[in-house]
Amino acid sequence: MILISSCLAGQQVRYNETHCLNPRLKQLIEQNMALPVCPELLGGFSIPREPAEIVGGDGGDVLDGTAVVKEKSGQIVTDMYIQGAYKTLEMAKQLQVTTVVLKEYSPSCGSSTIYNGAFSNMKTNGEGVTTTLLRRNGIDVMSEYSFMKELDRVEDI
Ligand code: SF4
Repeated sequence: MILISSCLAGQQVRYNETHCLNPRLKQLIEQNMALPVCPELLGGFSIPREPAEIVGGDGGDVLDGTAVVKEKSGQIVTDMYIQGAYKTLEMAKQLQVTTVVLKEYSPSCGSSTIYNGAFSNMKTNGEGVTTTLLRRNGIDVMSEYSFMKELDRVEDI
């Protein structure tokens, strides 16, 4: 079993009530090979919500207490991001999941790139909060881009 970001499965759970459907990932869920998960909803957010970015580092720094997650209006929402990460970890452990496919660029789900914290639409290297927590617990986290490459490679064999 793998977990996949709910927004990649076509669910309108993003901050602005949109999705970023990847039909092949949705198909894995329909075939009961994967389950959708949205760390931000697990953290207590609703839809829609304000956009948020990590300020002062990345997900590892948030978990270590040296960076925060801030909404565009300035409200600090770090605790909800951390709660969402721990609930996702709990779900992954209960389901004995070894691979999680999360949406690149998100402050929760980014796996190698996130927005830079200035709300200027600029990106930087770094992981989201949930990604870091899962990786620190031995779970393989891939972006949709890496996972699709891997899927293509396996299907070509
Ligand atoms: Fe939820 Fe992650 Fe998608 Fe954001 S990127 S909507 S936290 S699943």
